[in-house]
Formats: sequence, structure tokens, C-alpha cells
Amino acid sequence: MRPSPHEDKIVEHSERDMASKTSLSPTPFSVNSNNPEVFVASGAGPYENTRMALEHINLAPASGRRVLLKPNAGRMVDPHTGVTTHPQVVAAAIDAFRDAGAAVAVGESPITGVKALKALEKCGIAAVAKKRDCPLLDMDARPYVFMDIPDGRAIQRIKACPETLEYDIVVSMPVMKTHMHTGVTLSVKNMKGCLWRRSKVDLHMLPKIPDVDEKSLNVAIADMSSALLPHLAIIDGAIGMEGLGPSAGELRELNAVVVGVDPFAADAVACALMGISAFDIPHLRMGAERGYGVIDLDTIDVSPANWRAVSQPFALPPKNLSIEFPNVSVFDSQSCSACQASLLLFLRKYGEQLFSGKSGAGKTPIAIGKGHDSLPAGTLCVGNCTAKFKEGRPFVPGCPPVVSEILNIYNEYFK
Ligand code: SF4
Repeated sequence: MRPSPHEDKIVEHSERDMASKTSLSPTPFSVNSNNPEVFVASGAGPYENTRMALEHINLAPASGRRVLLKPNAGRMVDPHTGVTTHPQVVAAAIDAFRDAGAAVAVGESPITGVKALKALEKCGIAAVAKKRDCPLLDMDARPYVFMDIPDGRAIQRIKACPETLEYDIVVSMPVMKTHMHTGVTLSVKNMKGCLWRRSKVDLHMLPKIPDVDEKSLNVAIADMSSALLPHLAIIDGAIGMEGLGPSAGELRELNAVVVGVDPFAADAVACALMGISAFDIPHLRMGAERGYGVIDLDTIDVSPANWRAVSQPFALPPKNLSIEFPNVSVFDSQSCSACQASLLLFLRKYGEQLFSGKSGAGKTPIAIGKGHDSLPAGTLCVGNCTAKFKEGRPFVPGCPPVVSEILNIYNEYFK
């Protein structure tokens, strides 16, 4: 992956001063890799559920070590919206690792266009961390570290945020959500937020891999998990998200937390609680096939025995946004979540008003993403990735584009 020009200075520094790594260290926590254990706690509130689930893990190896909590705090949203990790889940993890004698920090590298510390503030995580005098890390602030992916099929190298390698223990703390691009986003996928700055976007822009019948993005996430496998997964199912995840879906309250040392096993159990088979999630299936973790529920030891009692079927993400929003045709090829989120917000906010009376007039074409070879005349091209089609078509610049600007350009061109 080549750096963008504005990153060049940092790249030179990074390449000169930092060695390539190939993976995080093995987990210090006890795990039977053939028969991993996963713990589900429910019904008692996010803080208590997290503490109860963590009681099953012997955290003693964390004593005297530096622990990095990596929640999902990649977007500027309020707490309790099902988009970002519940602050009380993070609070409980800080307290549990502190009680075990660890030095704890909370870090994030958000989606394009969002600043880490602002996002942590907005979603309520900064407040619980500050109350505990726990450091907050903008993981994009310093130069990246290259990590090689020796067995990568889609990617051979990633740029990791340096904290990911400097901390002794990395804990992935996602929210239970469906995801338009990857099926679900749980503890394995949440580690994509340890990729430095805009290098996350590169995974959405990969060419098709010859003879591989999967989206390159999913192959790349499986590749990434060979290097960035967290040492522990704490999955927040307090308030999850179904349908148009990761940011525009509907809330699902499970009031549950899932904890496991094998992140694949924890994700498989969380998937089951969402009514989804982990074998239907390409990055989990491919990672498990390569031996990075276990997703077969028959070989995962889940506690308590009645863990499935809290399961609620999550609505799957739609295959095509045009179905969700009648009277528009959305052409989405190799977009990243930031562009998708802007378009979804635009359609949610203004879709009915702008498009509902247009059934006789044909559908309005809208495009996001870099992967188009051609687009119909009159397509509303949204985001810098569609700039090559802007000649003669309405074009909304931005990376990501903002909703108000999509509305402005739409009104200018179509009214
Ligand atoms: S223009 Fe949109 S799809 Fe392209 S990189 Fe920016 S946010 Fe992602």
C-alpha cells in the first residue's frame, strides 16, 4: 500500500526508525486453542455484566503489564446509540485490569474525517476514563509501524498504530453490530481500528483477487487477523445494532457481554446471539480455516449452559441500499464506511422528502466508492473516489463528503 503524498514525511521517519513486525505477541491468558472457553453475562447492566464475565478470566498475567483497551469509538456519536462501545463496559474493563495490577489506557484510531480524542469524548468513554485517571490515546498521533503479513492473500503489509505493538496486552472491545460490508463487526474486525489513519481505507480499495470468490475487503480482514489478533475479546452487547450497521441501523438491546481469550470463538458466540452463523461471515470463516481461531460452536465451551436464552435475531444488512431507499439506485463499489455513513444519513434525513414522489420519473442514480468502471448519465457522484466521473455529472467532493453538501449539490442539479 503506497502512502498518500501528505504522509510521506512520516513514512520516511517510520521506515527509518521502526522495524517491521509480523504479529502481536501470543496471549498471556490461558486458552485451550482446540476447545476455547467463552463467557456470556447478561441481565445485570453493562458494568456488572462486564465484571461478571471477566471474573471467569484469570487476569493475573496482566499484573505489572501495560494494557491497551481498544473500544469501537470511531465515530462522532452520542453514547447509547448502538454505534460505539458502551462507556460502562469500558469502565468495567478499566477497573478489572487495574484490580489485576495492570497499567491501563484506552485508545482509538477512528474512521476517515474523525479525530480520536473528540470521538472518545463524544461517545462518553472519555468521561469514564478521566474519572479513573486512565490515559486516552489518539493512536493516529504518532508515526505508524509496518507489520508484515507473511501469509496475506490480499495484503502483505499493514501500517499499525504504534501503541498496538508497544502495549503488552491489547483488548478488543467492539459493539455487537451488523455491517454492510463485512456482515458483522466484532472483535476481529474491530482491530481494523488499529490501522493507522487513512490506511484503513486502503482495505476497501483493493482489486479483486483472481480465482477468489470473496470480496477483497473480507480477505484482507482475515489477512490482518493473522497479525493483529487481540489478546482478549470483550464484546459489548448492551445495545447493539442491526440492519444498516455499522452506523445507520436500528438499536437492539441484548443487555449482554461476551468475553473470550480466542477472539474468533468470542465472535462466533456473539454471532450466534445475533442469530447469525459465523460460517456465513467471510472474514471469520476464512480466518478459522487458516487456524487463527475457532468458530465451530460444537468445539467452543460456552458458559453458562443457557447462554442462548439472551439471543435475539438481528436483521441482516441489506445487500443493496436501493431496496432500503426506493426511487434511488445506489451504485456502491469499493466504498469505505465513512462515505457509506454520509450517504445513509443523507438518505435517512432527506430521502423521503426528495425521492418519495418520483416513482414515475425513474430512479435517481447515486454512486459512492472507487471501483466503478462506468456510471449512468446524471448519476449523483458522492465523495472524492467518484471524481473521475464528475464531468457532466453532479459531484459532491469530500473524503468523506458531508451530508449538507450532498443536499446542496442535489438541489443545485436536480431542482
Ligand atoms: S471518498 Fe468516500 S469512499 Fe473514497 S476514501 Fe473518502 S470516504 Fe472512503
